[in-house]
Amino acid sequence: MLAEVQQDDHVLMVEAAEEATHVWSHKARIVLFLSAMRHFAERWNSRCQLSYFQIGAHPFSSIPDAIAHVIGQHPDIETIRFIEPGDARLLNALLAAGNRLKRPMDVIPDPHFLCSLEAFETWATQGKHRSDVTHNLRMEFFYRWMRRRTGVLMQDDQPVGGQWNFDAENRSGFGAGGPPTVPEPQRFTPDDITRAVMQDVERLFPAHPGSLIDFAWPVTQQDARTALGDFIRHRLPAFGQWQDAMWRDEPFLWHSLISAAMNLKLLDPRDVIAAAEAALLAGTAPLAAVEGFIRQILGWREFVRGVYWRHAAAWPSTNALNATRSLPAWYWTGQTHAACLSAAISQTLQHGYAHHIQRLMVTGNFALLAGLAPREVADWYLAVYVDAVAWVEEPNTLGMALFALGGRMTSKPYIASGAYIKRMSNYCKSCAYRPEVRTGPKACPFTTLYWDFLMRHEARFRSNPRMAMAYKNLDRMDAEERMAIREWAIVRMDQIESL
Ligand SMILES: Cc1cc2nc3c(=O)[nH]c(=O)nc-3n(C[C@H](O)[C@H](O)[C@H](O)COP(=O)(O)OP(=O)(O)OC[C@H]3O[C@@H](n4cnc5c(N)ncnc54)[C@H](O)[C@@H]3O)c2cc1C
Ligand code: SF4
Repeated sequence: MLAEVQQDDHVLMVEAAEEATHVWSHKARIVLFLSAMRHFAERWNSRCQLSYFQIGAHPFSSIPDAIAHVIGQHPDIETIRFIEPGDARLLNALLAAGNRLKRPMDVIPDPHFLCSLEAFETWATQGKHRSDVTHNLRMEFFYRWMRRRTGVLMQDDQPVGGQWNFDAENRSGFGAGGPPTVPEPQRFTPDDITRAVMQDVERLFPAHPGSLIDFAWPVTQQDARTALGDFIRHRLPAFGQWQDAMWRDEPFLWHSLISAAMNLKLLDPRDVIAAAEAALLAGTAPLAAVEGFIRQILGWREFVRGVYWRHAAAWPSTNALNATRSLPAWYWTGQTHAACLSAAISQTLQHGYAHHIQRLMVTGNFALLAGLAPREVADWYLAVYVDAVAWVEEPNTLGMALFALGGRMTSKPYIASGAYIKRMSNYCKSCAYRPEVRTGPKACPFTTLYWDFLMRHEARFRSNPRMAMAYKNLDRMDAEERMAIREWAIVRMDQIESL
């Protein structure tokens, strides 16, 4: 895009309050987006006619309002061009603005993805191997298609190492001894521009959630590249092995921390994948780790984007399991006696970050088991993470974590009892609840609700082959035990605010 902009093009960048308030955004999320924009604008200033509107210093509440203002001042502007935004809400608002202003809208495909929306649609509708027997889209088939299509980790037409995934070697817990010394990730001290944004955000959004005390995210392309290099050198080699593990007071572990930089286009995913492949070639990272990492970017990241736009109309109201319970207030404070939830939410408020398994198997798993209303949960995820943009947040939350899209994105709901969290973390050691207890005041809420979920949704899931083991285990319980769990689940849910 930058290369295509001509000296006499009029470029508009607007820090619109609506983008920070349509969900109750974490302060760090607002700072990161605005600081990246201000740093980017510095480079554009001399290359085009740039109108940049800083938050708090202009009267426009939304991006379309600012466009209307600029067109009013420059009626000779013939066409409005923009890159596909990452949110259907914004796309619709921009298209509506174009209609109102009687200007053609030229929507430029986003070059920061390896699979265009057009190519995804072709795969989804015409690909031979796009789904399993359910005819729903499956990431695994998409990922293999992308590997073949891009040649990433391929040798002729075969996957490097002879297999498509190395899950068997990846995804261990730490065991009782805990992790080896965790490499400290590179963090970035806020510069003058970022500090000015922080002041603006504290002044304009004082009641928003989250803290800025530990803000240290990369906000420029250069810093994002440094962050990538730091990950490739120090954490990629063990990435796969510890990908799913969790540990108290270790928010980052071996994760890359580059999602926000990629989503803000500070890093191109092609460069990220190339850097991981180079580490494999150089022998500094094993194939299992490199494949596990590349699968997240070439597979999951591209897949969820395609799914998001395919189902764009469905996201606002999708609710396959008819879940209606309100989000408990402690999702915004972390103040709960459940140690795993408290840890995941507290670090989220501190850093705007939790890693995938914390999002999926702790906060997401609880929301699914407890039947929390999908829209409220999705708005929470969109608000609290620095990397949150609708195209990636909605399918992950609604499609993957909450099963709100039915089976269209995953073949079974991601549910687990306290036993899983105990195996993958040390949270249970300092918890008010016991993971193996199913009923009574000491019962782990995940464990009670896991069994209750299987019973509540039996008609829907019993015949799902991927749930067979779970139902086999449920069948081992006598009727009295089942009844006790169902009754305790009701009590627990009545007291959800004081969990
Ligand atoms: C309920 C829920 C909500 C989520 N919301 C977001 C979101 O708003 N924005 C976001 O970028 N990711 C989201 N994810 C995906 C994933 O959790 C984050 O990308 C990851 O935790 C970011 O941390 P990292 O950069 O250290 O990732 P790593 O663990 O180091 O993974 C490497 C990269 O792979 C990509 N990736 C990994 N898993 C996924 C996935 N499931 N979908 C898309 N990309 C993936 C990310 O770009 C990430 O940076 C969500 C996951 C869940 C379960
Ligand atoms: S006992 Fe249950 S609630 Fe407590 S940390 Fe373990 S899994 Fe979480």
